[in-house]
Amino acid sequence: MTRPMIAHRTPAYEALHATVSTGLQGAFGTSRPVWLLTMSATGAMEMALRGLAPGRIVSLVNGEFADRFAQVAEGCGHTVQRCFAPFGGVVPLAELEAALVTGDVRAVTVVHVETSTGAASDLAAVAALARHYGALTLVDAVTSVGAQPVLADAWDLDFVFTGSQKALALPPGLAFAVASERYLATARANPRRGLYLDPLRAHRYALASQAPTTPALPLLFAAEVQVARVAAEGLEARWTRHAEMRAAISAWVDAVRADGIDLRIVAPEGARGAGVTACVVPDGIAAEALVRRVAGAGWTLGDGYGPLRTATFRVGHLGEHSVATLHPCLDVIRTALDDLMG
Ligand SMILES: *Cc1c(COP(=O)(O)O)cnc(C)c1O
Repeated sequence: MTRPMIAHRTPAYEALHATVSTGLQGAFGTSRPVWLLTMSATGAMEMALRGLAPGRIVSLVNGEFADRFAQVAEGCGHTVQRCFAPFGGVVPLAELEAALVTGDVRAVTVVHVETSTGAASDLAAVAALARHYGALTLVDAVTSVGAQPVLADAWDLDFVFTGSQKALALPPGLAFAVASERYLATARANPRRGLYLDPLRAHRYALASQAPTTPALPLLFAAEVQVARVAAEGLEARWTRHAEMRAAISAWVDAVRADGIDLRIVAPEGARGAGVTACVVPDGIAAEALVRRVAGAGWTLGDGYGPLRTATFRVGHLGEHSVATLHPCLDVIRTALDDLMG
């Protein structure tokens, strides 16, 4: 990242852009150009919705980030219907279908892995249902791209985005996205797409391996290194490593429970993301106090998010972490739990 800057209207930049963009295709499960966007992931979320003329949107809401998606849709002038999930889970497909049958829904918003709860939605099923009723599927895959399979082409997803700072283990500041031909065609019918967040502009420049505006070069230098690291590990191996971390934390929670401590994983079994696990602390313990203790021992946990703030903590087991680096962290959490339980 300390490499000297280069001019971005040059073949050298185009080569850098092409390397990073193609390097990310596997993580998105796509053969389409992956856009490199200078913005955090929420910018890409807004881009997905800014591209579409105001219309009816159905938002699957099962946590804070899923609700942010709905709020962004409202802010972009769409009429939003929220479908809610049971606590910590995912929205039942029947709820989605009930919302879709009533009329002309332009798009469904869904968060693949809801980072506030760790719950993973079945994207292939959501997209198939949306398609059946003629709606696009817009996907926040911020916590899943790079941690578990996200198959934009095979699952027929219309807009998928992530941020640099999650499972791709880069510094924050970039978003990456891919859009289907169907999405682009729908966006073409909308004359008011703005400029910075115009998906058609992003696509047009991406086709030429260029950036629409001045790119964040140091972050792209870092991304060039990181896509090579991901390729060297191999995507399948990367996904396996994350699945192993998910299994390790689940086994650890079982062991803690076997010792009579009522710790629980928020997301239901079978619908858990590979890169983050949210846990409900036992009654009488403040999750913030636990997070502070663990921080004192040198490990950073995520606080509970939104309404789950006082009852949960989150372990981010993604990026370059492994089962070997996760265990010492879990040991520290266990000690803190024991101390707080007195
Ligand atoms: C982190 C996160 C975001 C927000 O990303 P920013 O880069 O802060 O804009 C959105 N959705 C999910 C699921 C996230 O985990």
